[in-house]
Amino acid sequence: MKVQDLAKELNKSPKELIVLLSSMRIKVKSGTTKISFKIVQDVKKRLSAEKAAERQDTYSEGPSKIKTLTLPGLSIKYLAELLEVSLSEVMHAVLRKGLLLNLNSEIDAQTARNIAETLNIDLKIDIEKSAGQSTIKDDLDKIEENEIDSDPDALEERPPVVTIMGHVDHGKTLLLDAIRKTNVVEKEAGGITQHIGAYQIKYHSKLITFLDTPGHAAFTTLRARGAQVTDIAILVVAADDGVKPQTIEAINHAKAAKVPIIVALNKADKPEANFDLCKQQLSNHGLVAEDWGGDIVMVPVSAKTKDGIEEILDMIQLTAEMQELKAHLNGPAKGVVIESRLSRKKGPIATILVKSGTLKVGNPFIAGSIAGKIRALLNDQGQKIEFASPSTPVEILGISEVPSPGNILEVIENEKECKIMSEQRKVSAKNEQLQNRHFTFETISKEIESGSSIILNFIIKADVNGSLEALQTFIEDCSSEKVAINIIHSATGPITENDAMLAKASNALIIGFNVPVNTDAQKMAEEESIEVKTYSIIYEIMDDINKVISGSFKPVYEEYETAKVEVRQIFAFSKVGKIAGSYVLSGNVERNITAKVFRDNKEMFSGKIDSLKRFQEDVKSVASGFECGIVINGFSDLKEGDSIICYGLREKKH
Ligand code: GDP
Repeated sequence: MKVQDLAKELNKSPKELIVLLSSMRIKVKSGTTKISFKIVQDVKKRLSAEKAAERQDTYSEGPSKIKTLTLPGLSIKYLAELLEVSLSEVMHAVLRKGLLLNLNSEIDAQTARNIAETLNIDLKIDIEKSAGQSTIKDDLDKIEENEIDSDPDALEERPPVVTIMGHVDHGKTLLLDAIRKTNVVEKEAGGITQHIGAYQIKYHSKLITFLDTPGHAAFTTLRARGAQVTDIAILVVAADDGVKPQTIEAINHAKAAKVPIIVALNKADKPEANFDLCKQQLSNHGLVAEDWGGDIVMVPVSAKTKDGIEEILDMIQLTAEMQELKAHLNGPAKGVVIESRLSRKKGPIATILVKSGTLKVGNPFIAGSIAGKIRALLNDQGQKIEFASPSTPVEILGISEVPSPGNILEVIENEKECKIMSEQRKVSAKNEQLQNRHFTFETISKEIESGSSIILNFIIKADVNGSLEALQTFIEDCSSEKVAINIIHSATGPITENDAMLAKASNALIIGFNVPVNTDAQKMAEEESIEVKTYSIIYEIMDDINKVISGSFKPVYEEYETAKVEVRQIFAFSKVGKIAGSYVLSGNVERNITAKVFRDNKEMFSGKIDSLKRFQEDVKSVASGFECGIVINGFSDLKEGDSIICYGLREKKH
């Protein structure tokens, strides 16, 4: 790059830049001298450092200060417990305040007070530092006091964070690539490789941050964990293919997160591209183009020929301006973990998107429940940097364990405090895991029965459009004064992991009619306790929902076979009585499980397995194909040839 070009980019005269370079011991002859990529970087670093130092000076002189209290680990759920009101009342208050928070979102003292105020409760918080075991009230006592400048001027504009979403093969990857290649400033340096799942470009001398994890992962996984990082969603729709199932999913994900959407009508270079058809299909899903009288910007682009990319970037900047995205530059940094991994050489590594403050090398921090100290910061091109400001993605080294995407990283100046918080959070995370039950038909029904108002979010999947529409209409009609119903996503096709993610992020229930549940979705639903109900008779869905809404839903449980055992030999011991030497034919036998004894196909006894042994050892379970010794509580009459069938209990499926 030539000196004069860099000077132009930095709004300086070539002479000023030459003086600056010489102060950095870099000699250049004239404005036309070429300088290396490294020098360009060094100059920029130096200028940002000067600017940051200037800001620091200005802020420290700032007259008015308020105290903002951050309550480590205070979530909406905790607040509900503390205020002794139901979760749904607190969630109503959260929605009334227009806050995008879920039950596990961490909140600060001011937010807690605002929510309490909406509920007509005057929340007083005692600031008293103490250490020890973590209870909700203790957490409030262990408030970390941070001073944040109350001067609104201290809020600085920050770059927008953009996520690209859309159907597979519609061109998300190529578009991200095209944007990166055409706009990375240091193109001349050649061979720029991106190291982390996010990158920044400069366009019209302003930065834009792109999250480089196409699909819904970056978006919904993070939101499911209570962290929203995306400011603008670019919905890529291939103009030769139109709206497809994942397009609709993406629309609903963005809508649920209340993130503005810009539509990129991609593959505009193809002769088959049909913009009007796309616009019409999109309008069926609530996205009406500006030229059709709506308010959604739709830009024809070609990721291949790069036509229209500038328009997309213009629109991003315009949308960002309207959003007035701002953040504090001073004060301890806060960020969100957007990805993490374990490197063999460097140990645990996390990519952080800074949300506020400036993250610096040497800062002690806590991410989720993991404490650490920033050993190094690497930018999106793998270069070491000294600090990172809001909306900047950085890789951090110096963390002791791998944090989870969605964890919040907070800089806590006092290292000791950091360690105490880490311990406390580990304890509360464990407790939360135990208590963290998702909304189910049963819990909602109980809440409604106890007189609470509630918002019910549904995701509906059905085999064909006809039944989908019928279900939608029925469910929407169930709204009442006490129960507000939102259908956040409905589509034909199986229940997928994306549905489960959306359900987790939005506290929704999933209803499937004549559709299977994909294995990944099943796994996630089990792990995250998401209610997935599948039916094959519409009437039964209606019946269940009516019961939930009237507060009278009771799940029906059924027994199911978990193991089958054959008694092969009886051993009599004077102390324990008879032990049935048995062979497990199928399943897993477990101690304390309910077992029924059958002789000649007749049930002889039903009770619990009292003792289960492998050789002389007491064991918890024995798998099929192994021998074991069994004693059934209250039944000493086991005989050779008896069958023992073990049963578990599960909610009856329709
Ligand atoms: P993704 O699955 O959404 O990330 O889609 P990709 O970026 O991998 O693109 C899928 C296919 O469409 C690839 O073969 C691309 O080369 C092609 N493609 C993407 N954008 C365009 C475009 O604007 N024009 C044309 N003709 N092909 C494109």
